[in-house]
Amino acid sequence: MSLAVHQNYSLKGLNTLGFDVVAEHFVQPDTLEALQEALLLSEANQWPVLMLGGGSNLILSNHIPGLVIQLANRGIELVNSSAEDVVVEVAGGENWHQMVETTLEQGWYGLENLALIPGTVGAAPIQNIGAYGVELKDRFVSLQAWDRKELRLVTIEKDQCDFGYRWSRFKGEDAGRYIVWSVRLCLSLIPDPVLNYRVLADQLEQQGIDQPHPNHLFETVCGIRRSKLPDPDELGNAGSFFENPVVKLEQYEQLKSAFPNLVAFADKPGFMKLAAGWLIDQAGWKGCRDGDVGVYDKQALVLVNHGGGDRSQLLMLAGKIQASVLERFGVQLDIEPRQYPIEPV
Ligand code: FAD
Ligand code: NAP
Repeated sequence: MSLAVHQNYSLKGLNTLGFDVVAEHFVQPDTLEALQEALLLSEANQWPVLMLGGGSNLILSNHIPGLVIQLANRGIELVNSSAEDVVVEVAGGENWHQMVETTLEQGWYGLENLALIPGTVGAAPIQNIGAYGVELKDRFVSLQAWDRKELRLVTIEKDQCDFGYRWSRFKGEDAGRYIVWSVRLCLSLIPDPVLNYRVLADQLEQQGIDQPHPNHLFETVCGIRRSKLPDPDELGNAGSFFENPVVKLEQYEQLKSAFPNLVAFADKPGFMKLAAGWLIDQAGWKGCRDGDVGVYDKQALVLVNHGGGDRSQLLMLAGKIQASVLERFGVQLDIEPRQYPIEPV
């Protein structure tokens, strides 16, 4: 028996909201055998299983029943290379941002816009992480996952993942079925900066740079993020709390005539993506505090834990925000991070 099983284990430092969460059982397998051992244990005891990465996209109750598994496998391996690009295989337990830094140091480009996103490599495909005009799927090749239904390691190719805007099959029909053990990415040996995101382009223009090196892009993205987003080590948060709502063109046009400053971006044909942060800000919530929780004062899309907050307080605040945005704009806001367990405990 190689696996250490911790009981009543504190996850306070392992969820970025900083909630005072305790897991009934907690393990950190670093090999596939240890992962299988953990799953056998959960079956024998009929424990529900929660996969935990960096806890940056989860809203947890104070008590997590059953077993929490956090992968501890590590490694970035060069699988093959050509004159133009490389394919790397990265362990699911690797920290995403550190991996981005490491690949850049190697001269493997393409992830620079995705710098400073908290969490693990294994969780990145779950919602097809994205920022500043780039999504994981743009560099994704395939993943290896433990299939909890068929009890075997499977390879899932990009076109089988159903990647969409902050979406994949692993969030939908197959939620909980696959444990992402490793991810393969195709990175470019030739700098190929993506500069179609206005905030980023403006920032570079101000610096007088029109052909940024990927390292420079990385630094610029980190700089913008540090200036706009709270550091979870200092102020608990789960990033964007609501998804940007996608509405039909007609609804957008009605809203735009009523609210000429409405911030929105083209989405799939016939639809527009509204900036949820703008709606929340206009509804008067930016910087508000409600007991121990609140709305971040520099970005209304981020809800924060000032210390001592918990899931029920946060969801209460979220409900008030949703109701006021619905009343003012007729737009429903959906919560982005996953809530676990489904019913609060
Ligand atoms: P967790 O929060 O631990 O888990 C998220 C989900 O994935 C859960 O359902 C969990 O069960 C599942 N999961 C975790 N690991 C595995 C695995 N190995 N196999 C199967 N399922 C697994 N997101 C963006 O897309 N873009 C951003 O720019 C961005 N910025 C953020 C900024 C801040 C300050 C914060 C706090 C969050 C931000 N996020 C962003 C959200 C979050 O960082 C990402 O969703 C990230 O991928 C979550 O990784 P994690 O390891 O913390 O996952
Ligand atoms: P921002 O730059 O102030 O922009 C506000 C919103 O408008 C964003 O959500 C973004 O949607 C959208 N947007 C802006 N410019 C766009 C363009 N040129 N084309 C299409 N959509 C555009 O947002 P921010 O909060 O500082 O975040 C910056 C980036 O990091 C965004 O990509 C955001 O998604 C990502 N981020 C995500 C999280 C999370 O938890 N999911 C947290 C922090 C930051 P998109 O979301 O589609 O980009």
